[in-house]
Amino acid sequence: MLIEDDVWIAQSITESLEAEGFHVDEADRGEDGLELAGLYEYQVMILDLGLPDMRGDEVLENLRQKNTNLPVLILSGDAEVESRLSCLQSGADDYLLKPFNMQELVARLQALVRRANGHSQNILQFGELTLNLTARDVIVGDKRVDLTSKEYQMFELLCLRKGNVVSKESFLDHLYGGMDEPEMKIIDVFICKLRKKIEKAGARSPLIQTVWGRGYRVNTDEMECSA
Ligand code: CA
Repeated sequence: MLIEDDVWIAQSITESLEAEGFHVDEADRGEDGLELAGLYEYQVMILDLGLPDMRGDEVLENLRQKNTNLPVLILSGDAEVESRLSCLQSGADDYLLKPFNMQELVARLQALVRRANGHSQNILQFGELTLNLTARDVIVGDKRVDLTSKEYQMFELLCLRKGNVVSKESFLDHLYGGMDEPEMKIIDVFICKLRKKIEKAGARSPLIQTVWGRGYRVNTDEMECSA
């Protein structure tokens, strides 16, 4: 979720993040951003401090009253030092000063998402399967599994949730962010393809489990985190 009123900055952030496989929803007003954050399950929020309708710290305060877990990265101009401090005190997770380096923004967002899900390392290991969050790679043994961007995003979400059930609604939010959402059953189709690819690459145990009526989860019996 990106809340930024500068059209040019918003566009360049969205383009860079989409190239990294994030789906981005944009809002140019605090109120709209809060509304979207109430409707959909986001992984991380980027919040500009100078918005036309609300101050960034007001947006954050409002958000924290409802949704305490969403990681928030603040974007601010140098002049907004007090507002930035107030944001950090009221629960922002990170901040970047404008102008910023796009690669740094992407790296910080990836770290926020990872830590929010309780992972301190960039590499997750399930038996002989390795998921590299930085390279966005899935490797079984020494073979790279050739996944589409959506398949990777789904698998990453499952792995980050560490064995907790991910509902089909959550997958749709994650992949499409409420925009042009296809039917729910597309998720079953994606999961089916994902399972086949992972099995074909040689993973032994069934890694993705179906939880009837609720969604999917990864089998964490063999899971370990490594550096
Ligand atoms: Ca602004």
